[in-house]
Amino acid sequence: MDTYLITGGAGFIGSHLAESLLGDGHAVIVIDDLSTGSVDNLRAFCAHPRFELVHDSVLNERRMGELVGRADFIFHLAAVVGVARVLESPIRTIQNIVHGTDVVLRLASEQNKVVFVASTSEVYGKSNQLPFSEGGDMQLGATSKGRWSYACAKAIDEFLALAYFRERQLAVVVARHFNTVGPRQSARYGMVLPRFIEQALSGQPLTVHGDGSQQRCFCYVGDVVWAIKRLVLEPSNYGKVFNVGSAEEVSILQLAQRVKAKIGSASEISFVPYHLAYDNNFEDMPRRIPDLQRLHAALGFRRLVRLDEIIERMAEHYLARA
Ligand code: UDP
Repeated sequence: MDTYLITGGAGFIGSHLAESLLGDGHAVIVIDDLSTGSVDNLRAFCAHPRFELVHDSVLNERRMGELVGRADFIFHLAAVVGVARVLESPIRTIQNIVHGTDVVLRLASEQNKVVFVASTSEVYGKSNQLPFSEGGDMQLGATSKGRWSYACAKAIDEFLALAYFRERQLAVVVARHFNTVGPRQSARYGMVLPRFIEQALSGQPLTVHGDGSQQRCFCYVGDVVWAIKRLVLEPSNYGKVFNVGSAEEVSILQLAQRVKAKIGSASEISFVPYHLAYDNNFEDMPRRIPDLQRLHAALGFRRLVRLDEIIERMAEHYLARA
């Protein structure tokens, strides 16, 4: 049995990871400031004898020092959720991401622990070198366009993690998460699939931004958890960056149509211009596909949960909660 510390473990991905690690027989400590994470996400296992929730911020270095000391592995997932929140609170976004990761990496390095750092496919920005591979260039927009602050802050996290690996031999793995979806993902932070499902179930119009031709690849959270649990166990993965996601591409308009069809919803599809959905300065990425060769070389190939099945599982979850 190992002890895993998960920062941001009351969030969507973190809570699935915690549940899976408990199921594997490990002890799990979650630290979460509950700003976007929720105790509701932990309900299924919060009374488990090997589970502990610490309500605090990763910026509390004294508390983090104690928790890192008790852990064998640290999953650093605490960050900011959703493009809308990044645009609303840019200072908090940048400070939490950069300072939080600095704290985690420094403490893990001092105490010789294995760390996983969650990064994002946003770091590829507007690159059109598809599919995005880990060694490809980043192409971020101007600093006046708030969206890019998130990608830039996460890129600093990656630089710092790789620097700790090279200079201090820290055992660290970085994963760039592509769009991850599944039960417990809240519609509140604007993410498209939980939003469409909630809208379809409640008979509201499905709000497609722009003309809906932008494309994304959605990966089931259970598949993501499977991958990241394995990445940290293998020392040859340390000091490397991995794309984690699915390569099954769908346009946002097709996504809206598939959600409607799967749920049998009579909701309309309404097209919302980007400047009304976000702000005048907003830039979206037309396509975002991961190159998964490095991940497959490290972990082997896995058959992923398909989009229609994901929609069904998410709809069931929302109906059970309603
Ligand atoms: N989107 C949409 N309607 C919504 C929410 C999002 O059309 O109600 C679009 C969004 O503009 C983007 C895509 O869906 O093009 C994916 O958005 P999300 O915020 O889920 O993730 P992103 O890929 O932008 O990080």
